[in-house]
Amino acid sequence: MKLTKAQRNEIKLKFGGKCSYCGCDLPEKGWHLDHAEPVIRKSEWQSTGTFTGKFVNTGEAFRPENHSFENLMPACAPCNLYKSSMNIEGLRYEIALQVERARKSSLNFRLAEKFGLVTVTEAPIVFHFERYTGRAVLAQGGDE
Ligand SMILES: [Zn+2]
Repeated sequence: MKLTKAQRNEIKLKFGGKCSYCGCDLPEKGWHLDHAEPVIRKSEWQSTGTFTGKFVNTGEAFRPENHSFENLMPACAPCNLYKSSMNIEGLRYEIALQVERARKSSLNFRLAEKFGLVTVTEAPIVFHFERYTGRAVLAQGGDE
């Protein structure tokens, strides 16, 4: 399925021109089309020597049915790259682990937390597309 420019634009405006996940404004160029339910591209090892080689895409995918217009979400590059081949609940789960990971691996985070510069909350992880009501687009038209 190759998207037209109009279809790409329609997807970009799906949630007010913002990233489906973090809600940041999508840039003019460099935003990504994310598959909410992932399509995982198949690759195979191509040997170039005894101990050298690389994975090369075969052009096929697992669950190719997920490459549909309805399943495509506009995303900023960091969210899309972090989400990788996870589905939405997998992404939510991974994000929920970030505070513990930062505490374990970062002295900077522990210090910032200790001195009150960072306050951790138990807030649920709600994605932009879950909060989006469509008013952002109307607001741009001078509704508010
Ligand atoms: Zn994002």
